[in-house]
Amino acid sequence: MKCANCHAELGPADQFCGSCGHPRAIAAPPLPANRGVCPNCGAKCQSDERFCGECGQALPTASPQPAREKITNAIWTLIAVALLIYFGILAIGFFITIFSW
Ligand SMILES: [Zn+2]
Ligand SMILES: [Zn+2]
Repeated sequence: MKCANCHAELGPADQFCGSCGHPRAIAAPPLPANRGVCPNCGAKCQSDERFCGECGQALPTASPQPAREKITNAIWTLIAVALLIYFGILAIGFFITIFSW
């Protein structure tokens, strides 16, 4: 653990930097346990539920945009395949030109 301000080494229990007095950077709090337990009432919930069945609390979603990621991956795959075909045709044309001499 290093001071975010002066990069001096901090002890594990130091709340402030011993060199510059900068408060120790607080580690980002872990995301609320959003799989299986309602953050409001603690009731068990299904992982695909969007609202708590006990209290109606909206449940945080762990991965809000997996669909978009999938589409982006598909687009990149298409681009890669198109490029491969394009260069393949170029290479074939190149070799045909060479060997037709
Ligand atoms: Zn410091
Ligand atoms: Zn609840």
